[in-house]
Formats: sequence, C-alpha cells, structure tokens
Amino acid sequence: MHDGGLDDRGDEREDAHSAAPVPAPLTEHGPARVIAVANQKGGVGKTTTTINLGAALAEYGRRVLLVDFDPQGALSVGLGVPAHELDVTIYNLLMERGVEIDDVIRHTTVADMDLLPSNIDLSAAEVQLVTEVGREQALGRAIKPVLDRYDVILIDCQPSLGLLTINALACADAVLIPLACEFFSLRGVALLMDTIDKVQSRINPDLEHLGILCTMFDPRTLHTREVRQRVIDAFGDLVFQATINRTVRFPETTVAGEPITTWAPNSNGAQAYRHVAREVLAR
Ligand code: ADP
Ligand code: MG
Repeated sequence: MHDGGLDDRGDEREDAHSAAPVPAPLTEHGPARVIAVANQKGGVGKTTTTINLGAALAEYGRRVLLVDFDPQGALSVGLGVPAHELDVTIYNLLMERGVEIDDVIRHTTVADMDLLPSNIDLSAAEVQLVTEVGREQALGRAIKPVLDRYDVILIDCQPSLGLLTINALACADAVLIPLACEFFSLRGVALLMDTIDKVQSRINPDLEHLGILCTMFDPRTLHTREVRQRVIDAFGDLVFQATINRTVRFPETTVAGEPITTWAPNSNGAQAYRHVAREVLAR
C-alpha cells in the first residue's frame, strides 16, 4: 500500500541517523554545556525537545539539568511536577536574596536528570528585571553555582524574544532551534537569527548555533517534506539529520508526566530523540 511504502521510507531515514556514534561514557562530570532551546513561535516542540533530549542525554550517562524558563510551566508539568503548587521556583531564585539554587532544584523520575521548575510567577520576573542592573545576566548568575555539577543544561525558552529568552541566550554556549515542518514555519526565523546575532555581538560572543531540529514531520505528506527541504536549502549542515515525526505519542507523554524514552522506550519518537542526543554530543 502507498502508506506502507512511505512508512518503510521513514525507517530507512531512521537508519541514516545512525551516522552519529554512540557516545563514550564519561568518567568525570562537568563543566556543563549550556544549551538554550529557542523559537519565538509556540507549539514547535521546544518543551518536548527539552524533556526528551534531556532524558536521552541522561540515558547516555550525562548529568542533565533542565531549566523551565517559560512562565507557562509546561516543562515542569510535563515531568509530573505540579508547578502552580510550588513555594519556590526559579522566580524566587532570580528575584530574592537568600534563595539558593539547591532550594529550587528537584530530581525527576529520570536518573541523573534534574529540573529547575517555574510557574506563572516567572512572568513577574520579566517585568521586574527590566529596571535591574545586569538584567540580561540574571539566569547566568543563578545557574553558575551548579555548572560544575552537570554535563548539559537545557533551557526551555518561552515563545517570545523578550527578556527571559535574552537571558537564556546570554548565558548559553549554544542555541538549538526546533522548527515545525509546516506552513509559515520559516516565518519569523530571520528575526530569531537576527536576535541571536545581536546577542552574540553585544552580550555573549561565545554563543554558537548548535543546530536546527525539524519537528512535526509527517512522512506521508509531500508538503512537510518540501518544508524540510527548504530548511535544508536555507541552513545546510546546521540542520540535524534526525527528524522528529508528528505522533500522538508526544501529547500522551505530557499526560503521563514523563519523557517518551521511558514512557515508550522503543517508539520511533524515543529513538529519534536518542539520535538527536548523539548528534548533539558529536557537535
Ligand atoms: P513549544 O514548547 O514550542 O510551545 P511543545 O513542545 O509544548 O511546543 O509542543 C506543543 C504541543 O505539540 C504539545 O501538546 C506537544 O505534546 C505536541 N507535540 C510536540 N512534539 C510533537 C510531535 N513530534 N508530534 C505530535 N505532537 C507533538
Ligand atoms: Mg514550551
């Protein structure tokens, strides 16, 4: 059948990802590589990528800290943390003296993967930070004490190019951009790239592009393949070979409050994020 043929092609695509080697285990940990997961467009898979890339990196023996830097708190909720009920979140860490990062960090169900949770309080920080000296460096100052403890810190950015996202880019070593393979997905990318350029030239000269991850890929439609090709034409090697297919398994994992790597360890989605993890470690 027609569909079956396309599914098979999807499997071949998976094999092609094996290009990035299985990473060697680490004997020592830290200092962390800080990666901002950013795109001002909502619903492109930033939070899903943060959770599942983090979990896949932890499977490969990396110590991972996930930073929920979106006041929506979707990353926290996606890991089963009732963010709206928390007394201390990243907001308190940023805005209050005397709050230590260890008061806020929580373990997750995934071994070696911790979380700095947030909730709607963080939206107040964005307003309050505007008048502060060093307002772009607040997150960098906050995570500095634990850089030596982790191998990778992933920051899940909010869907805007406001001060919170600038804070993430200001303290990151690299930025990962999830891009949905849909109509209009390339719209706004120029503005995002421009913002990254400005952060590089004015605040953080060490910021690098880690790559662009095509998400919401539907191998059955011509359109989604065309969009992916356009992304590759525009950004070349910056585009990860691994591609994340559109599947209901991801919304399911949010309800389950755990990553796809543990919820459905043998699924295509779990495998795809393991491939992304390998590419990230190879870059
Ligand atoms: P963002 O953080 O960029 O706003 P999310 O990761 O929260 O995006 O994803 C938006 C919605 O789409 C969520 O409901 C999520 O479960 C779902 N989703 C994410 N990735 C996929 C995918 N590959 N296939 C299907 N649904 C997905
Ligand atoms: Mg999100």
